[in-house]
Amino acid sequence: MTLRRIALLGATGSIGESTLDVVSRHPDRFAVTALAARCQWQKLAELCRAHRPEVAVLSDARAAQALERALAEQGLPTRVLAGEAGLIEAATLASADTVVAAIVGAAGLRSTMAAASAGKRILLANKEALVIGGAVFMGAVEASGAALLPIDSEHNAIFQCLPRDRALRDPDSMGLRRILLTGSGGPLRMRPLAELPDVTADEACAHPNWVMGKKISVDSATMMNKGLEMIEAHWLFGVPRERIEIVIHPESVIHSLVEYADGSVLAELGHPDMRTPIAQALAFPDRIDAGVRALDLVSLRKLTFEAPDYARFPCLELACAALDAGGTGPAILNAANEVAVAAFLDGRIRYTDIAKACSEALARVPARSLDSLDDALAADAEGRRAASMCLKLPIAA
Ligand code: NAD
Ligand code: MG
Repeated sequence: MTLRRIALLGATGSIGESTLDVVSRHPDRFAVTALAARCQWQKLAELCRAHRPEVAVLSDARAAQALERALAEQGLPTRVLAGEAGLIEAATLASADTVVAAIVGAAGLRSTMAAASAGKRILLANKEALVIGGAVFMGAVEASGAALLPIDSEHNAIFQCLPRDRALRDPDSMGLRRILLTGSGGPLRMRPLAELPDVTADEACAHPNWVMGKKISVDSATMMNKGLEMIEAHWLFGVPRERIEIVIHPESVIHSLVEYADGSVLAELGHPDMRTPIAQALAFPDRIDAGVRALDLVSLRKLTFEAPDYARFPCLELACAALDAGGTGPAILNAANEVAVAAFLDGRIRYTDIAKACSEALARVPARSLDSLDDALAADAEGRRAASMCLKLPIAA
């Protein structure tokens, strides 16, 4: 068994925590080489004491200085880096073979792209990076021979249901008819439509099945998360949008399904616990204990399914439109969504303004061709500007 050396980007977040939980259960298999986050230096210092990485990064330069002092006082030899350059260095360290990309949002784009170009084994949680980078990101993976393993639970389920030697390849040659992408419908699935404008951030973040970071929790409430995941599935598995069907499954036990030409439908089931997909990808092709209890089908009794309600969840339609627009369309949508969700979490706009801002950004900013990381970054900036204008927010520099 080879020891896998891991660079964990987004170490202080929800996925970061679940990853370190799985890693800690298997010290014979995994070593933590780098830990990176934004600004929580105390939390990162604690993680450094526990996992003894070679490198620690905070993108916030001030916080990185505080971390450096704290680690020096403890006598830890961890090298501290700062800024975007630090994140990229962590993502491309020669001493790490595996990069867990778990920064939230476009903030993770450059480092995840750098890991792809460096030919790392990438465990992808940061779906926004793939949504923004699209063909450019997949091109970098292909050119370098990087391995791309999804840990988003739905995509990990699909990956597990695809033939192993064909996973992440051409759908027709593997007899794949459709992907059935499941989603719980979030905390607002049953809320009267007239009450949606008054939904608070706490209500939107109260996901019935999963405990996650705030941004993805709001995305789950609007179902923009499922829209981004549809785009993510399109790129990961090379499947056209028409062959990806979204199904509401409130229990979150079936994490997604794959339908084949002969009518067979394969699914992956489990408790809604991110340690399962993380452990699957960390150990692939082996199987390891993830600390997740056994699934008791008898006590579950039944699993239910519904069609998605596009009037309640306009973000689903917007994601389809963005993917159909092609090129930088998804990057524009993602940028507008990030601006709107942050403003909603700050109490500056209403819940229903999120979809409005996204729709307006897509209408105002034309999708252009996406041939480079710079194209993606330019579209991200344009999408942010358009959403800020629509929401009457100050435009970030
Ligand atoms: P989170 O908010 O809990 O954590 C985000 C992490 O990113 C933190 O460590 C934070 O420090 C870091 N970060 C944010 N901005 C940064 C910056 N500018 N520079 C460096 N680091 C930065 O988020 P999360 O729920 O862990 O989600 C992380 C990613 O995983 C998201 O893309 C999300 O969509 C995806 N994901 C999460 C879950 C889940 O269950 N939490 C499931 C599937 C996919
Ligand atoms: Mg998911």
